[in-house]
Amino acid sequence: MNRTQKARRTLDRLREEIPTPETELRYINPYQLIVAVILSAQCTDKRVNIVTEDLFADYPTMADLAKATPDEIYPYIQSVTYPNNKSKHLVGMAERVMEAYDGEVPQTSKELMTLPGVGRKTAQVVLSVAFEVDALPVDTHVFRVSNRIGLVKKDALTPRKVERQLKRIIPQDEWGEAHHLLILHGRYTCTARSPDCDACPLTDFCTYYERLQRLPDPIDGLDASRGLYYCSTTDRYFDEPAYKTDRYGVRQIVCPVSGSMQVFHTKTGETTKKVPDFRVN
Ligand code: SF4
Repeated sequence: MNRTQKARRTLDRLREEIPTPETELRYINPYQLIVAVILSAQCTDKRVNIVTEDLFADYPTMADLAKATPDEIYPYIQSVTYPNNKSKHLVGMAERVMEAYDGEVPQTSKELMTLPGVGRKTAQVVLSVAFEVDALPVDTHVFRVSNRIGLVKKDALTPRKVERQLKRIIPQDEWGEAHHLLILHGRYTCTARSPDCDACPLTDFCTYYERLQRLPDPIDGLDASRGLYYCSTTDRYFDEPAYKTDRYGVRQIVCPVSGSMQVFHTKTGETTKKVPDFRVN
């Protein structure tokens, strides 16, 4: 199956699982959306929705926010990540929108990216969600899920590369929907720490799942008193492992004598082999 077919099948199956693929941020206009998206960087939508309720009640318009100081905004958003920077960005963004764009959130990526706190991803989300411009923003979930499923090539190790490759295999009028489907799949099923493959409809073609299946089975009855690790190639126990980077760029534990990756934790019997999990650094 080529990547275009994989993308088609992925979106078809995710549509069945996720009937309303849309942002979970609460907003009623572009002003509220851009504020919420700035606040959501490295923070959960749930947390953002909690803080924006009071923030929007007291600062209902861009003009109101532009008149505030970062110190006044800070108490509203102190429970989100990076509240110091974000309060400065919010006020700076509102000031610039008032000065340069008559109080209206601009509708091009270039203009949006001139606003404090607005990078490429934030700009793309605002364009896609508020103005229905065809955009495919790549956040940490889209990045991880696209790589795991194998929708992108092995060299797609930056969000920008993932975005470019996805745009080539997904029809333009489906970019916005694909963005939400992949985010929600990553948030609730294919999570960073423990993907719930048992509940996933994509196992028959997911590259990550296939690699997980190829990992060696655990070995029963290892003697942990003889060493932390066991190499099944040399039938040898050891405490001090060596390391090697595999062909997927993952640093693996290897046997210090043979260099074999057939190494197991003696306490659990589990393999030490790791499958790349594609986190955005
Ligand atoms: S099979 Fe597992 S790794 Fe693959 S997309 Fe589904 S949850 Fe993620």
